[in-house]
Amino acid sequence: MDPKILVIGACGQIGSELTLKLKALYGNENVIASDIRDSNLEVVNSGVFEILDAQDFNSLSACIKKHEINTVYLMAAMLSATSEKSPMKAWDLNMNSLFHVLNLAKDKVIQKVFWPSSIAVFGPTTPAENTAQYTITEPTTVYGITKLAGERWCEYYHQKYGVDVRSLRYPGIISWKTLPGGGTTDYAVDIYHKAITHKNFDCFLSEHTKLPMMFMDDAIKASIDIMRADANSVKIRSSYNLAAISFTPKEIAASIKNHIPEFKISYTPDFRQDIANSWPKSINDDCAKQHWGWKPDFTLEDITKEMLLQLGRKYNNTKTP
Ligand code: NAD
Repeated sequence: MDPKILVIGACGQIGSELTLKLKALYGNENVIASDIRDSNLEVVNSGVFEILDAQDFNSLSACIKKHEINTVYLMAAMLSATSEKSPMKAWDLNMNSLFHVLNLAKDKVIQKVFWPSSIAVFGPTTPAENTAQYTITEPTTVYGITKLAGERWCEYYHQKYGVDVRSLRYPGIISWKTLPGGGTTDYAVDIYHKAITHKNFDCFLSEHTKLPMMFMDDAIKASIDIMRADANSVKIRSSYNLAAISFTPKEIAASIKNHIPEFKISYTPDFRQDIANSWPKSINDDCAKQHWGWKPDFTLEDITKEMLLQLGRKYNNTKTP
């Protein structure tokens, strides 16, 4: 089956880069981008773009039929920090959008679904180091509750209705093209921007808060690889643990100081500290490695070099002469 793809949430931090990569792989005409707002010009201007509310089943269904879509990447969601401020809105968006897509797959309107989960499915009772694929999942955040419920529904739709849904528990994603959308790991992107523009950064997490993280290129590679993998090798249909690196704000600051010696960091933890405290520090992703060959490419040093290089160029280009 040649994929004809709809990306929902294509203007977001991950959706935007995923859309462009999918277009490069499968051809512009075979990847339709959609979002509730047209906030990313590169994506909007890169081919067919539809304004689409993922909670509106009729519009979603009409869009899928119009473009003869067989594969959906559902990237629209409310992220962790924003969800704590609007719990019911988060529940509605994160669950309704998933049900709509799963039901279209159940009815064979589409054949394949990618839906990202998160390390937020874990909670304070989960062993925090080298967190296993199968362990205690008692999330204490609204976002984590939506992701855990989503995972159970994905597995249910696969087992009961044969839906080909594939999922990854992303760690915090670091990228330079698009700003992150209200998560607890957003600091690890913002710190690079502030290192270049201000040479200092006030972090909303404390210096020793270790969290699992990943460079965008690795996250995109994993998302595409799991969708291209033979169906039999995707043995877990809830969601796979996925890991690359783990670091603290102090460690990322030290890696920036290697390139910008005058860079300074201060710490003013806010409500996001509680969210971070409830999440794992490092993740065991042996299942993803063994089942479909996952392997990350980027270390913290690689990420720092690339972020400073790309953001340096970006800010230089936007300076008025
Ligand atoms: P983001 O907030 O940057 O982007 C989400 C996009 O969805 C936005 O462009 C937004 O306009 C769109 N959207 C919101 N409501 C919509 C609706 N009703 N209909 C259609 N589109 C709508 O999020 P992201 O960081 O790109 O995350 C993508 C997915 O990855 C989400 O499921 C998120 O939970 C998951 N995830 C992200 C991270 C991370 O670090 N970024 C980590 C773990 C999991």
